[in-house]
Amino acid sequence: MNQADAQRIRGILADLGYTETAEEQDADLIIFNTCSVRDHAERRLAGRVRSLSALKRKNSDLIIAVAGCMAQNLKSKIFDLLPQVDIVFGPNDIEQLPKLLKNANAGKTLGKFLSKGSFDGESADGIIISRPFSAMVNIIRGCTNFCSYCIVPYVRGPEISRPVDELLIYIKELVDKGVKEVTLLGQNVNAYGKDLGMNEGFATLLEEIDKIEGLRWIRFLTSHPRDFTPEAIIRISKLKKVCEQYHLPFQAGSNRILELMGRGYTKEKYLELVDNVRKYIPNVSLSTDIICGFPGETEEQFEETLEMVKRVRYESAFMYYYSPRPGTKAASMPGQLSDEVKKARLARLIDVQTEISKEESLKLVGKTFEVLVESLSARDDSYVAGKTSSGRTVDFKGNKDLIGSFVNVEIEQARNWTLSGKLVNS
Ligand code: SF4
Repeated sequence: MNQADAQRIRGILADLGYTETAEEQDADLIIFNTCSVRDHAERRLAGRVRSLSALKRKNSDLIIAVAGCMAQNLKSKIFDLLPQVDIVFGPNDIEQLPKLLKNANAGKTLGKFLSKGSFDGESADGIIISRPFSAMVNIIRGCTNFCSYCIVPYVRGPEISRPVDELLIYIKELVDKGVKEVTLLGQNVNAYGKDLGMNEGFATLLEEIDKIEGLRWIRFLTSHPRDFTPEAIIRISKLKKVCEQYHLPFQAGSNRILELMGRGYTKEKYLELVDNVRKYIPNVSLSTDIICGFPGETEEQFEETLEMVKRVRYESAFMYYYSPRPGTKAASMPGQLSDEVKKARLARLIDVQTEISKEESLKLVGKTFEVLVESLSARDDSYVAGKTSSGRTVDFKGNKDLIGSFVNVEIEQARNWTLSGKLVNS
């Protein structure tokens, strides 16, 4: 979501005549697009902003802005915490940036925190995408789930879906600009359309996007297991452009912990969903999010999480230990675990998942996949890297002219997550 917001911020700034600098000391404007999900990110932001104090003294025209969820969460408190900051605006108020900059440049009361704006009328003209063939598209903002550990509903507000017809126009504009792949974004894409009175709105939206000529691949994240219905799976599985990559956060393997988290599903329901996805999309690549060390989690309950990981065999997982967020229900729950216990559990979890990722990757050696080439490879300029439909990163010998095109690659070598291969004829 933050990357999608950054696309829009970049576009607005380019329209105003700003260009990007390579070094921060050359900048007239520095924007931090923040995340509030974990405490660590907030602490890092404070350190980074404070480190700009000398620069700010040297260049009195320098404007420092804080955007994103942390801005929405702390609002004007950021000005007290970090006096170096001139502008604070939330993720739903990006369109107000020109006005805020005008005020800041005119030396008026800077900043001014903005509250929730609308989600209408965004045009693809206004965005800048770092990879012109691949764009992120917000289809639903906010979240109404209030999982007990999560701060997102407090900072991003309730779910608001962008209407189907607007999204179709937007995505067609992107395709006309050369976009071949879109990633549809939302905190819970499966809730898409509920606020618009739609039934199975997400499947309906995908069916419409699938018809757009010139678009090749459609990805989406994040799904909420509670809202992913068997009907949606069947309807989505029939669509040719939807990639075989499903991110299904399960968070914890114990029903008691899932209940405390307020996730709205049981382990058994979740496993039914996984089995259903695998039945209708046989080559699907599954990934997940897991939190260990939730308040009150016993050793046995943590082991249930390990069992889930072994049972489902995800190709990859985002794994964290629980980090209390002030204002959420879980932050004041009894049974908070020590960092030592949480870190030790996380290390065990990572070990189990890493082994599975390796084994799953090895199964791909010798197979050929269509790959959308995205960039030069990090290892060497004579290699390029891209992604398969299932979201696996592959690198292979090739030149930069291939970037943005679809090619076939045979996998020769597998590491934990990334794969290496060779270009083969279509
Ligand atoms: S579904 Fe739960 S974890 Fe995801 S954003 Fe909403 S409240 Fe947070």
